Amino acid sequence: MKRILVTGGLGFIGSHTVVELQNEGFEVVIIDDLSNSKIEVLDNIEKITGIKPDFYQLDLRSKQNVQHFFNENTIDGIIHFAAFKAVGESVQKPLDYYENNIGSLVYLLQEMRDRNIDNFIFSSSCTVYGQADELPITENAPIKPAASPYGNTKQIGEEIIKDSCTAHNMNAISLRYFNPIGAHDSIKIGELPLGVPQNLIPYVTQTAAGIREQLSIFGDDYETPDGTAVRDYIHVVDLAKAHISALQRLLDKKNKQNFEFFNVGTGKGSSVLEIVNSFEKVTNQKLNYKIVARRAGDVTAAYADTTIANQELHWKTEKSLDDALLSAWKWQESQKG
Ligand code: UDP
Repeated sequence: MKRILVTGGLGFIGSHTVVELQNEGFEVVIIDDLSNSKIEVLDNIEKITGIKPDFYQLDLRSKQNVQHFFNENTIDGIIHFAAFKAVGESVQKPLDYYENNIGSLVYLLQEMRDRNIDNFIFSSSCTVYGQADELPITENAPIKPAASPYGNTKQIGEEIIKDSCTAHNMNAISLRYFNPIGAHDSIKIGELPLGVPQNLIPYVTQTAAGIREQLSIFGDDYETPDGTAVRDYIHVVDLAKAHISALQRLLDKKNKQNFEFFNVGTGKGSSVLEIVNSFEKVTNQKLNYKIVARRAGDVTAAYADTTIANQELHWKTEKSLDDALLSAWKWQESQKG
């Protein structure tokens, strides 16, 4: 049985990926510092799969911590989610973002090099493309200057991994996520934003639940069919499954280069207003919203060309936008006291 380290395994995408790994027969060990997650998620994973993953509460910013972990554990592959992810906060606290997102990555790669550990999957983001010149966005689209320190950590992270793969004969896949939303069918795990949500879907569900008074739609003067910005919203379970496919590709030595990167989205763009309308339809909720000014740093439209990911990873999305929105709403409802 292959033993896989999942850093940030109690977070939104991490927890869903742990479930899929266990479903596929992998043994999982999680590292999470609980800075943006809750320990209850560990029990909830066990409720879904019947298996409690090994767990280390550990801060990866300490090289000693990382070394200590690898002294105690034999690992066949790493899926690295642990990172700060708030775009706005990263502008305020760039050094915290560089220390955490880059420091931890370097320590992990150093241990891989020193112990001959292979097979690394990296959480990247479509933010690396900025406002792409052509839609849908293929993997060949140029990387644009990052609009935030957060985005920069993803770009730099990919470069660090690429250089490490070249120098140390390691193999890695970077998955460039579009907009992950939704919750597991069991409604036992989902997105747990701290404080006021920055992302659209948690803000929508919290508004419908009466926790927030009104959703602000950031701009209706974009060059899109209805004027609101367009994104590619992917069900988190579909996204989680892409990680299993990528890991299997590395374990089977099917990768064509040491370092590869794939877009993980649905291929379909939806505007903010389309999201609002679909949400109202599938949940029978009325959403209180108003149009406000654009949010700084937002691009007009981003959606994936998934051709390469579909072919190379033998993976495709199975769930619809309505499935995702309904599960997000059920998850919100399940959070009532
Ligand atoms: N958005 C919005 N109101 C909100 C949060 C987000 O109108 O309260 C819009 C945002 O401007 C963007 C889309 O929803 O066009 C998705 O934003 P999110 O922060 O979820 O993801 P991003 O694409 O920025 O990573």
